[in-house]
Amino acid sequence: MNGHIVIVGAGHAAAQVVDSLRREGFTGALTLVGDEPHLPYQRPPLSKKYLAGELGMDRLYIRPETFYANHGVTLRLGQRAIAIDLAAQQVTLANGAALDYTQLLLCPGSRARKVTAHGANLPGIHYLRNAADVEAIRSRFRPGARVVIVGAGYIGLETAATCRKAGLEVDVLEMADRPMNRVVAPEVSAFFADQHAREGVRIHINTVVSGFDGDANGVREVHTLDGRVFPADLVVAGIGVLPETALAEAAGIACDNGIAVDSHCRTSDPHVYAIGDCVSAPSLRYRRRVRLESVDNAFEQAKTAAANMVGRETMHDKVPWFWSDQYDLKLLIVGLNFDYDQVVIRGDTHSRSFACAYLRHQELLAIDCVNNPKDYMAARKVIEACGKVDPAKLADPSIALKDTVVE
Ligand SMILES: Cc1cc2nc3c(=O)[nH]c(=O)nc-3n(C[C@H](O)[C@H](O)[C@H](O)COP(=O)(O)OP(=O)(O)OC[C@H]3O[C@@H](n4cnc5c(N)ncnc54)[C@H](O)[C@@H]3O)c2cc1C
Repeated sequence: MNGHIVIVGAGHAAAQVVDSLRREGFTGALTLVGDEPHLPYQRPPLSKKYLAGELGMDRLYIRPETFYANHGVTLRLGQRAIAIDLAAQQVTLANGAALDYTQLLLCPGSRARKVTAHGANLPGIHYLRNAADVEAIRSRFRPGARVVIVGAGYIGLETAATCRKAGLEVDVLEMADRPMNRVVAPEVSAFFADQHAREGVRIHINTVVSGFDGDANGVREVHTLDGRVFPADLVVAGIGVLPETALAEAAGIACDNGIAVDSHCRTSDPHVYAIGDCVSAPSLRYRRRVRLESVDNAFEQAKTAAANMVGRETMHDKVPWFWSDQYDLKLLIVGLNFDYDQVVIRGDTHSRSFACAYLRHQELLAIDCVNNPKDYMAARKVIEACGKVDPAKLADPSIALKDTVVE
Protein backbone atom coordinates (compact mmCIF):
# COMPACT_ATOMS: atom_id res chain seq x y z
CA MET A 1 0.00 0.00 0.00
CA ASN A 2 1.25 3.48 -0.93
CA GLY A 3 0.66 7.10 0.04
CA HIS A 4 2.10 9.39 2.70
CA ILE A 5 1.32 8.84 6.37
CA VAL A 6 2.15 11.74 8.67
CA ILE A 7 2.46 10.89 12.37
CA VAL A 8 2.09 13.79 14.82
CA GLY A 9 3.67 13.20 18.24
CA ALA A 10 6.94 11.25 18.60
CA GLY A 11 6.37 9.22 21.76
CA HIS A 12 5.58 5.64 22.72
CA ALA A 13 2.69 5.21 20.29
CA ALA A 14 4.68 6.64 17.37
CA ALA A 15 7.67 4.37 17.90
CA GLN A 16 5.42 1.31 17.72
CA VAL A 17 3.25 2.45 14.84
CA VAL A 18 6.25 2.95 12.54
CA ASP A 19 7.22 -0.67 13.10
CA SER A 20 3.64 -1.94 12.79
CA LEU A 21 2.90 -0.01 9.58
CA ARG A 22 5.93 -1.52 7.84
CA ARG A 23 5.10 -5.00 9.16
CA GLU A 24 1.56 -4.56 7.82
CA GLY A 25 3.08 -3.88 4.39
CA PHE A 26 2.80 -0.11 4.13
CA THR A 27 5.39 0.86 1.50
CA GLY A 28 4.61 4.57 1.14
CA ALA A 29 6.27 7.58 2.74
CA LEU A 30 6.30 8.04 6.51
CA THR A 31 6.96 11.33 8.28
CA LEU A 32 7.24 11.59 12.06
CA VAL A 33 6.68 15.04 13.58
CA GLY A 34 7.62 15.57 17.24
CA ASP A 35 7.93 18.81 19.19
CA GLU A 36 10.59 17.46 21.55
CA PRO A 37 14.17 17.41 20.22
CA HIS A 38 14.52 13.67 20.95
CA LEU A 39 13.82 10.42 19.17
CA PRO A 40 10.80 8.71 20.78
CA TYR A 41 11.87 7.75 24.31
CA GLN A 42 10.48 5.83 27.27
CA ARG A 43 8.64 8.08 29.68
CA PRO A 44 8.23 5.70 32.70
CA PRO A 45 11.91 6.00 33.80
CA LEU A 46 11.49 9.78 34.08
CA SER A 47 10.07 9.47 37.60
CA LYS A 48 12.30 6.49 38.42
CA LYS A 49 15.81 5.66 37.19
CA TYR A 50 16.25 8.71 34.96
CA LEU A 51 15.36 11.14 37.76
CA ALA A 52 17.68 9.18 40.05
CA GLY A 53 20.49 9.65 37.51
CA GLU A 54 20.84 5.87 37.07
CA LEU A 55 20.01 5.99 33.35
CA GLY A 56 21.18 8.46 30.74
CA MET A 57 19.03 9.78 27.90
CA ASP A 58 20.75 7.41 25.45
CA ARG A 59 19.26 4.48 27.39
CA LEU A 60 15.71 5.83 27.11
CA TYR A 61 15.31 5.75 23.34
CA ILE A 62 12.70 3.19 22.34
CA ARG A 63 14.49 2.53 19.01
CA PRO A 64 17.90 3.71 17.77
CA GLU A 65 18.11 6.34 15.06
CA THR A 66 19.07 3.65 12.53
CA PHE A 67 15.67 2.03 13.04
CA TYR A 68 13.91 5.08 11.58
CA ALA A 69 16.36 5.31 8.71
CA ASN A 70 15.93 1.59 7.97
CA HIS A 71 12.14 2.00 8.03
CA GLY A 72 12.23 4.92 5.61
CA VAL A 73 10.95 7.47 8.12
CA THR A 74 11.55 11.19 7.63
CA LEU A 75 12.10 12.61 11.11
CA ARG A 76 10.95 16.13 11.86
CA LEU A 77 11.98 16.43 15.48
CA GLY A 78 11.85 19.66 17.47
CA GLN A 79 8.97 20.73 15.23
CA ARG A 80 5.43 21.28 16.43
CA ALA A 81 2.32 20.66 14.35
CA ILE A 82 0.05 23.68 14.74
CA ALA A 83 -2.85 23.12 12.35
CA ILE A 84 -4.63 20.45 10.35
CA ASP A 85 -6.65 21.19 7.22
CA LEU A 86 -8.90 18.14 6.86
CA ALA A 87 -10.28 19.13 3.44
CA ALA A 88 -6.82 19.74 1.96
CA GLN A 89 -5.32 16.78 3.92
CA GLN A 90 -2.47 18.94 5.11
CA VAL A 91 -0.64 19.52 8.41
CA THR A 92 1.10 22.83 9.10
CA LEU A 93 4.16 22.98 11.35
CA ALA A 94 5.22 25.90 13.55
CA ASN A 95 8.14 26.63 11.18
CA GLY A 96 5.66 27.19 8.33
CA ALA A 97 6.24 23.86 6.56
CA ALA A 98 3.11 22.19 5.15
CA LEU A 99 2.91 18.40 4.89
CA ASP A 100 0.37 16.76 2.58
CA TYR A 101 -0.90 13.43 3.80
CA THR A 102 -3.01 10.60 2.50
CA GLN A 103 -3.56 9.48 6.11
CA LEU A 104 -2.77 11.23 9.37
CA LEU A 105 -2.06 9.57 12.71
CA LEU A 106 -2.37 11.72 15.82
CA CYS A 107 -0.48 10.61 18.93
CA PRO A 108 0.40 13.82 20.79
CA GLY A 109 -0.10 12.22 24.21
CA SER A 110 -1.18 14.22 27.21
CA ARG A 111 0.10 17.17 29.21
CA ALA A 112 0.42 17.69 32.95
CA ARG A 113 -2.55 19.31 34.67
CA LYS A 114 -1.30 22.54 36.20
CA VAL A 115 -1.74 23.76 39.77
CA THR A 116 -3.66 27.04 39.71
CA ALA A 117 -3.02 28.34 43.26
CA HIS A 118 -1.27 31.72 43.70
CA GLY A 119 2.50 31.60 43.26
CA ALA A 120 2.26 28.50 41.08
CA ASN A 121 4.64 30.03 38.51
CA LEU A 122 7.54 30.48 40.94
CA PRO A 123 10.86 28.92 39.92
CA GLY A 124 11.31 25.53 41.53
CA ILE A 125 7.72 24.38 40.94
CA HIS A 126 7.82 21.60 38.39
CA TYR A 127 5.80 18.92 36.61
CA LEU A 128 7.06 15.61 35.38
CA ARG A 129 6.00 14.86 31.85
CA ASN A 130 9.11 14.93 29.71
CA ALA A 131 12.91 14.78 29.81
CA ALA A 132 13.16 18.59 29.89
CA ASP A 133 11.09 18.61 33.10
CA VAL A 134 13.58 16.25 34.74
CA GLU A 135 16.50 18.42 33.61
CA ALA A 136 14.79 21.42 35.21
CA ILE A 137 14.24 19.50 38.47
CA ARG A 138 17.89 18.39 38.67
CA SER A 139 19.37 21.69 39.93
CA ARG A 140 17.32 21.37 43.14
CA PHE A 141 17.43 17.57 43.39
CA ARG A 142 20.15 17.07 46.01
CA PRO A 143 20.45 15.25 49.35
CA GLY A 144 18.89 17.17 52.21
CA ALA A 145 16.73 19.37 49.95
CA ARG A 146 13.09 19.63 50.99
CA VAL A 147 10.71 18.53 48.27
CA VAL A 148 6.96 18.93 48.48
CA ILE A 149 5.10 16.67 46.10
CA VAL A 150 1.56 17.66 45.22
CA GLY A 151 -0.57 14.61 44.47
CA ALA A 152 -0.24 11.02 45.70
CA GLY A 153 -0.99 9.27 42.41
CA TYR A 154 1.49 7.02 40.62
CA ILE A 155 3.74 9.84 39.48
CA GLY A 156 3.70 11.60 42.85
CA LEU A 157 4.51 8.42 44.76
CA GLU A 158 7.17 7.22 42.33
CA THR A 159 8.79 10.65 42.53
CA ALA A 160 8.55 10.54 46.33
CA ALA A 161 10.32 7.15 46.38
CA THR A 162 13.07 8.34 44.03
CA CYS A 163 13.60 11.58 46.00
CA ARG A 164 13.70 9.73 49.31
CA LYS A 165 16.21 7.19 48.01
CA ALA A 166 18.39 10.13 46.94
CA GLY A 167 18.27 11.58 50.46
CA LEU A 168 15.75 14.39 50.02
CA GLU A 169 13.21 15.29 52.73
CA VAL A 170 9.82 14.45 51.28
CA ASP A 171 6.30 15.68 52.08
CA VAL A 172 3.43 14.55 49.84
CA LEU A 173 0.21 16.58 49.89
CA GLU A 174 -2.90 14.71 48.75
CA MET A 175 -6.37 16.26 48.65
CA ALA A 176 -8.18 12.87 48.83
CA ASP A 177 -8.40 10.73 51.94
CA ARG A 178 -5.86 8.16 50.71
CA PRO A 179 -3.07 7.80 48.13
CA MET A 180 -3.83 6.43 44.64
CA ASN A 181 -7.53 6.68 45.52
CA ARG A 182 -8.64 6.83 41.88
CA VAL A 183 -7.08 3.52 40.93
CA VAL A 184 -6.71 1.08 43.82
CA ALA A 185 -8.75 -0.26 46.76
CA PRO A 186 -8.28 1.19 50.25
CA GLU A 187 -6.28 -1.90 51.28
CA VAL A 188 -3.68 -1.23 48.58
CA SER A 189 -3.59 2.50 49.39
CA ALA A 190 -2.98 1.64 53.05
CA PHE A 191 -0.14 -0.71 52.12
CA PHE A 192 1.64 1.91 50.00
CA ALA A 193 1.04 4.66 52.60
CA ASP A 194 2.67 2.41 55.18
CA GLN A 195 5.66 1.61 52.95
CA HIS A 196 6.27 5.29 52.27
CA ALA A 197 5.99 6.11 55.97
CA ARG A 198 8.60 3.44 56.75
CA GLU A 199 10.94 5.02 54.22
CA GLY A 200 10.47 8.41 55.88
CA VAL A 201 8.06 10.01 53.42
CA ARG A 202 5.33 12.05 55.09
CA ILE A 203 2.04 11.72 53.23
CA HIS A 204 -0.56 14.30 54.28
CA ILE A 205 -4.06 13.30 53.21
CA ASN A 206 -7.11 15.60 52.98
CA THR A 207 -4.63 18.39 52.28
CA VAL A 208 -5.30 21.02 49.62
CA VAL A 209 -2.65 23.46 48.40
CA SER A 210 -3.79 27.08 48.68
CA GLY A 211 -0.65 28.79 47.40
CA PHE A 212 3.12 29.08 47.19
CA ASP A 213 5.47 31.70 48.63
CA GLY A 214 8.99 32.50 47.53
CA ASP A 215 11.10 35.06 45.73
CA ALA A 216 13.10 35.43 42.54
CA ASN A 217 15.31 32.53 43.66
CA GLY A 218 12.33 30.26 43.78
CA VAL A 219 9.68 28.66 45.90
CA ARG A 220 10.23 28.65 49.68
CA GLU A 221 6.90 27.55 51.16
CA VAL A 222 3.77 25.65 50.26
CA HIS A 223 0.59 26.79 52.01
CA THR A 224 -2.47 24.61 52.51
CA LEU A 225 -6.15 25.47 52.93
CA ASP A 226 -6.12 24.33 56.56
CA GLY A 227 -3.38 26.86 57.37
CA ARG A 228 -0.30 24.66 57.40
CA VAL A 229 2.99 25.78 55.87
CA PHE A 230 5.52 23.35 54.34
CA PRO A 231 9.05 24.65 53.71
CA ALA A 232 10.18 23.70 50.21
CA ASP A 233 13.29 23.95 48.05
CA LEU A 234 11.53 22.07 45.27
CA VAL A 235 7.90 21.31 44.40
CA VAL A 236 6.85 18.57 42.01
CA ALA A 237 3.18 18.44 41.10
CA GLY A 238 1.67 15.21 39.82
CA ILE A 239 -2.04 15.98 39.78
CA GLY A 240 -3.06 14.17 36.63
CA VAL A 241 -2.89 14.78 32.91
CA LEU A 242 -5.11 16.26 30.23
CA PRO A 243 -5.29 14.70 26.76
CA GLU A 244 -3.69 16.78 23.99
CA THR A 245 -6.80 17.50 21.96
CA ALA A 246 -6.29 21.14 20.91
CA LEU A 247 -4.93 20.40 17.44
CA ALA A 248 -7.71 17.92 16.64
CA GLU A 249 -10.43 20.10 18.14
CA ALA A 250 -9.35 23.16 16.16
CA ALA A 251 -9.52 21.07 12.97
CA GLY A 252 -13.10 20.00 13.75
CA ILE A 253 -12.32 16.41 14.77
CA ALA A 254 -14.76 15.11 17.39
CA CYS A 255 -13.45 14.97 20.94
CA ASP A 256 -15.00 13.47 24.06
CA ASN A 257 -12.61 13.43 27.02
CA GLY A 258 -9.86 12.86 24.45
CA ILE A 259 -9.83 12.60 20.67
CA ALA A 260 -12.85 10.37 20.08
CA VAL A 261 -12.00 7.26 18.07
CA ASP A 262 -13.99 4.18 17.16
CA SER A 263 -12.87 0.64 17.95
CA HIS A 264 -10.62 0.82 14.86
CA CYS A 265 -8.77 3.89 16.21
CA ARG A 266 -10.42 6.02 13.51
CA THR A 267 -11.46 9.59 14.32
CA SER A 268 -14.54 11.39 12.98
CA ASP A 269 -12.49 12.09 9.82
CA PRO A 270 -11.95 8.96 7.70
CA HIS A 271 -8.34 9.89 6.86
CA VAL A 272 -7.31 10.58 10.46
CA TYR A 273 -6.51 8.03 13.15
CA ALA A 274 -5.53 8.69 16.76
CA ILE A 275 -3.93 6.52 19.46
CA GLY A 276 -2.34 6.63 22.91
CA ASP A 277 -2.91 8.94 25.87
CA CYS A 278 -4.77 11.48 23.73
CA VAL A 279 -7.76 9.30 22.80
CA SER A 280 -10.97 8.06 24.31
CA ALA A 281 -12.10 4.82 22.72
CA PRO A 282 -15.13 2.60 23.10
CA SER A 283 -14.54 -0.58 25.05
CA LEU A 284 -16.86 -3.51 24.40
CA ARG A 285 -15.56 -5.24 27.48
CA TYR A 286 -16.20 -2.30 29.82
CA ARG A 287 -19.28 -1.00 27.94
CA ARG A 288 -18.11 2.62 28.05
CA ARG A 289 -15.56 4.93 26.48
CA VAL A 290 -12.19 4.73 28.18
CA ARG A 291 -9.11 6.94 28.09
CA LEU A 292 -6.01 5.13 29.25
CA GLU A 293 -2.60 6.50 30.14
CA SER A 294 -0.19 3.61 29.78
CA VAL A 295 2.62 2.34 27.61
CA ASP A 296 0.76 -0.89 26.91
CA ASN A 297 -2.26 1.02 25.62
CA ALA A 298 -0.11 3.19 23.35
CA PHE A 299 1.63 0.10 21.91
CA GLU A 300 -1.52 -1.95 21.45
CA GLN A 301 -3.52 0.85 19.86
CA ALA A 302 -0.57 1.48 17.53
CA LYS A 303 -0.84 -2.12 16.28
CA THR A 304 -4.61 -1.78 15.78
CA ALA A 305 -4.33 1.55 13.98
CA ALA A 306 -1.56 0.30 11.68
CA ALA A 307 -3.66 -2.70 10.62
CA ASN A 308 -6.69 -0.54 9.88
CA MET A 309 -4.65 2.11 8.08
CA VAL A 310 -3.50 -0.47 5.54
CA GLY A 311 -7.04 -1.77 5.16
CA ARG A 312 -6.87 -4.83 7.41
CA GLU A 313 -9.99 -4.29 9.53
CA THR A 314 -9.09 -4.93 13.16
CA MET A 315 -11.07 -4.22 16.34
CA HIS A 316 -9.31 -3.04 19.46
CA ASP A 317 -10.48 -4.78 22.61
CA LYS A 318 -7.45 -5.58 24.74
CA VAL A 319 -7.35 -6.06 28.50
CA PRO A 320 -5.14 -3.17 29.65
CA TRP A 321 -2.24 -3.48 32.06
CA PHE A 322 -0.08 -1.00 33.96
CA TRP A 323 2.87 -0.98 36.27
CA SER A 324 4.40 1.25 38.90
CA ASP A 325 7.79 0.93 40.66
CA GLN A 326 8.23 2.38 44.14
CA TYR A 327 11.31 1.39 46.18
CA ASP A 328 11.69 -2.37 45.73
CA LEU A 329 7.94 -2.76 45.15
CA LYS A 330 6.72 -3.66 41.68
CA LEU A 331 3.00 -3.07 41.31
CA LEU A 332 1.46 -4.79 38.28
CA ILE A 333 -2.18 -4.10 37.49
CA VAL A 334 -4.20 -5.92 34.87
CA GLY A 335 -7.79 -5.05 33.97
CA LEU A 336 -9.94 -2.09 35.02
CA ASN A 337 -11.85 -2.29 38.28
CA PHE A 338 -14.96 -0.33 37.22
CA ASP A 339 -18.02 -1.06 39.38
CA TYR A 340 -16.44 -3.82 41.46
CA ASP A 341 -18.58 -5.15 44.30
CA GLN A 342 -15.97 -7.20 46.16
CA VAL A 343 -12.29 -6.99 46.97
CA VAL A 344 -10.28 -10.10 47.84
CA ILE A 345 -6.81 -9.80 49.33
CA ARG A 346 -4.69 -12.76 48.35
CA GLY A 347 -1.74 -13.28 50.66
CA ASP A 348 -0.37 -11.27 53.55
CA THR A 349 0.38 -7.61 52.87
CA HIS A 350 3.10 -7.77 55.56
CA SER A 351 5.00 -10.23 53.38
CA ARG A 352 5.21 -7.40 50.76
CA SER A 353 4.10 -9.92 48.13
CA PHE A 354 0.35 -10.15 47.67
CA ALA A 355 -2.53 -9.43 45.30
CA CYS A 356 -5.75 -7.48 45.53
CA ALA A 357 -8.50 -8.82 43.27
CA TYR A 358 -11.58 -6.86 42.20
CA LEU A 359 -14.72 -8.89 41.46
CA ARG A 360 -18.19 -8.09 40.17
CA HIS A 361 -20.72 -10.89 40.65
CA GLN A 362 -17.64 -13.09 41.09
CA GLU A 363 -16.19 -12.16 37.71
CA LEU A 364 -12.52 -11.22 38.08
CA LEU A 365 -12.37 -7.68 36.67
CA ALA A 366 -8.90 -6.59 37.67
CA ILE A 367 -6.04 -7.39 40.00
CA ASP A 368 -3.25 -5.37 41.64
CA CYS A 369 -0.20 -7.57 42.20
CA VAL A 370 2.59 -6.35 44.47
CA ASN A 371 5.87 -8.22 43.95
CA ASN A 372 3.75 -11.07 42.65
CA PRO A 373 4.21 -11.61 38.89
CA LYS A 374 2.88 -15.17 39.11
CA ASP A 375 -0.65 -14.11 40.09
CA TYR A 376 -0.47 -11.30 37.56
CA MET A 377 0.19 -13.76 34.72
CA ALA A 378 -2.51 -16.18 35.85
CA ALA A 379 -5.08 -13.44 36.49
CA ARG A 380 -4.53 -11.96 33.08
CA LYS A 381 -5.76 -15.18 31.42
CA VAL A 382 -8.81 -15.36 33.69
CA ILE A 383 -9.71 -11.71 33.05
CA GLU A 384 -9.29 -12.14 29.29
CA ALA A 385 -11.75 -15.07 29.45
CA CYS A 386 -14.19 -13.08 31.68
CA GLY A 387 -13.81 -15.91 34.19
CA LYS A 388 -15.68 -16.15 37.49
CA VAL A 389 -13.79 -17.16 40.61
CA ASP A 390 -14.57 -18.56 44.05
CA PRO A 391 -13.75 -15.67 46.44
CA ALA A 392 -12.99 -17.98 49.37
CA LYS A 393 -10.49 -20.00 47.31
CA LEU A 394 -9.05 -16.84 45.82
CA ALA A 395 -8.28 -15.54 49.31
CA ASP A 396 -6.10 -18.61 49.90
CA PRO A 397 -2.73 -18.05 48.19
CA SER A 398 -1.85 -21.72 48.56
CA ILE A 399 -4.47 -22.45 45.87
CA ALA A 400 -3.19 -21.57 42.40
CA LEU A 401 -5.15 -18.66 40.97
CA LYS A 402 -6.21 -20.68 37.92
CA ASP A 403 -7.76 -23.28 40.25
CA THR A 404 -10.08 -20.68 41.79
CA VAL A 405 -12.05 -20.37 38.53
CA VAL A 406 -15.62 -21.64 38.78
CA GLU A 407 -16.85 -20.91 35.24
C1 LIG B 1 6.83 10.37 34.66
C2 LIG B 1 5.97 9.35 33.99
C3 LIG B 1 5.98 8.03 34.44
C4 LIG B 1 5.17 7.07 33.83
N1 LIG B 1 5.21 5.79 34.28
C5 LIG B 1 4.48 4.84 33.66
C6 LIG B 1 4.56 3.48 34.05
O1 LIG B 1 5.28 3.13 35.01
N2 LIG B 1 3.83 2.56 33.37
C7 LIG B 1 3.02 2.91 32.32
O2 LIG B 1 2.38 2.05 31.70
N3 LIG B 1 2.92 4.20 31.92
C8 LIG B 1 3.63 5.17 32.56
N4 LIG B 1 3.54 6.47 32.14
C9 LIG B 1 2.58 6.82 31.07
C10 LIG B 1 3.16 6.57 29.68
O3 LIG B 1 4.44 7.14 29.58
C11 LIG B 1 2.21 7.17 28.66
O4 LIG B 1 0.97 6.53 28.78
C12 LIG B 1 2.76 7.02 27.24
O5 LIG B 1 3.94 7.79 27.10
C13 LIG B 1 1.73 7.44 26.21
O6 LIG B 1 2.29 7.36 24.94
P1 LIG B 1 1.85 8.37 23.78
O7 LIG B 1 2.64 8.02 22.57
O8 LIG B 1 0.37 8.44 23.71
O9 LIG B 1 2.31 9.82 24.30
P2 LIG B 1 3.77 10.33 24.66
O10 LIG B 1 4.71 9.22 24.90
O11 LIG B 1 3.56 11.34 25.73
O12 LIG B 1 4.24 11.10 23.32
C14 LIG B 1 3.56 12.21 22.80
C15 LIG B 1 4.57 13.12 22.12
O13 LIG B 1 3.89 14.02 21.25
C16 LIG B 1 4.45 15.31 21.40
N5 LIG B 1 3.50 16.32 20.91
C17 LIG B 1 2.40 16.80 21.54
N6 LIG B 1 1.76 17.71 20.76
C18 LIG B 1 2.48 17.80 19.61
C19 LIG B 1 2.34 18.59 18.41
N7 LIG B 1 1.32 19.43 18.24
N8 LIG B 1 3.27 18.47 17.45
C20 LIG B 1 4.31 17.59 17.61
N9 LIG B 1 4.50 16.83 18.71
C21 LIG B 1 3.59 16.93 19.69
C22 LIG B 1 4.74 15.37 22.88
O14 LIG B 1 5.63 16.40 23.23
C23 LIG B 1 5.34 13.98 23.11
O15 LIG B 1 6.71 13.97 22.79
C24 LIG B 1 4.33 7.45 32.74
C25 LIG B 1 4.32 8.77 32.29
C26 LIG B 1 5.13 9.71 32.90
C27 LIG B 1 5.11 11.14 32.39
